[in-house]
Amino acid sequence: MPQFYMFKCSTCSTPIKGPKVQPDKPKTFKPGTLFVGTNRPPGVACGNALHTGITYTGKEDLRATLYELCQDPIITSPTGGSNVAGYIDGTEFKFYRSSNLARPAVVNAILGKDKSNNATVYTNRADALWIKHYPRIKVKLMDQLKPNEGDGAVGVTLTVQTVRKWPRQIAALALKAPLPDGGLYAAAAGLTKDLDLPPGSRKKGLARALRYYMLATYSLVDISSAESYEGLKNYVGALLVSDQGQILAAGINTGSFRHAEVSMLLSYFRNNPTATKVPENSVIFSTLTPCKGCTGFLSVTKSSNCVIYFGQEDTGKDGRVGKKISTQLSEKTKAPVGHSKEKLPGEIVTDDAEDAEGTGVVALGTASEIHKIQVDKGLTSCMGDGSIATQIGKAKHAKEVLRSGSEALIHKMLRTRAATDAESEVKRAVLTYIGQWLGTSKSVE
Ligand SMILES: [Zn+2]
Ligand SMILES: [Zn+2]
Repeated sequence: MPQFYMFKCSTCSTPIKGPKVQPDKPKTFKPGTLFVGTNRPPGVACGNALHTGITYTGKEDLRATLYELCQDPIITSPTGGSNVAGYIDGTEFKFYRSSNLARPAVVNAILGKDKSNNATVYTNRADALWIKHYPRIKVKLMDQLKPNEGDGAVGVTLTVQTVRKWPRQIAALALKAPLPDGGLYAAAAGLTKDLDLPPGSRKKGLARALRYYMLATYSLVDISSAESYEGLKNYVGALLVSDQGQILAAGINTGSFRHAEVSMLLSYFRNNPTATKVPENSVIFSTLTPCKGCTGFLSVTKSSNCVIYFGQEDTGKDGRVGKKISTQLSEKTKAPVGHSKEKLPGEIVTDDAEDAEGTGVVALGTASEIHKIQVDKGLTSCMGDGSIATQIGKAKHAKEVLRSGSEALIHKMLRTRAATDAESEVKRAVLTYIGQWLGTSKSVE
């Protein structure tokens, strides 16, 4: 970090920044030394031309322009996962460091900023810039700073921040994995609609378990509604599930860039600080097609064996990119079925005999379900460009569809019978696990 000799005007005492300190060239003058006229270092003078003398104060100023500070090789040539992000606050550049891109410093910088501080956040890693896809967040690469313009020209001191801020996370009691022998990933990866799985088989049970996890993901929406977040827009949930059926992380949308998938991933990497990818053979569930930003973060942190399933298809521009890395569960199996309190104008389907009873049974996941409902209800005005992500919190019926997920889950739990074969054994184990997990889950700092 460059330092500068500091002088003051010997007439009016105005502080004056001198030349850069060169540590290999020891200085030959003492504090209090007066430099007058042509003896002054070039360009170092008081603003008042009549004041001809400057005095060395003995102090060195740590302030350099942000541009100068960002020329450090640590920033220009980051190695491994090393990343830095910060923002200007008065005369300081408050920055965070991280050695793991799965726990990017840029998140800390955005969340660590005072709410009233509208400063741009700078980071040195382009691979942490998935965050720039979220509107209204000003994030730039440090190498885009210009020496004499804007933030680049501001003189600042570097101040390392050590208290990291993260999005809220959903925590639940640690429970034993419901499927100690694993197999959920294989079931997720091999799922096809045409595959007729033998009744009573473990494979059929695992295929059904995938729908239960999707319903559990929809149930997260209930948790998020119970917590009164600012700018409530939290009608999306995401779940990371291990091959053994253990819920490793969960996330809900709490606004800004804290989308469900982002909150889920950050929660996982906070609790597994050395991990840089989600575990091999895991399955990710999201209630909605991941958006551009979430897709960016998922792409950086996704393991090579990992299946991402989503519930509702976002047919708008927000969902277009996400479909490249994820699949709609109802494309591969019957859509998870929800029981709505009221009869909705959506497609009524029957899942199994056990789900056929009652009114208001709605498929959670048919591509156009929410669209259709909104259009039917004359809610086209809130559809914008047809993106569900931005509209989901605005339509009552859309919310109703999502909430019916947890009702369906409870319904299934209440109807769980004693395990008589491999299929019912898996279903029972998974439903019991999900029930206990959801029952103890809460949103925490
Ligand atoms: Zn002066
Ligand atoms: Zn998203």
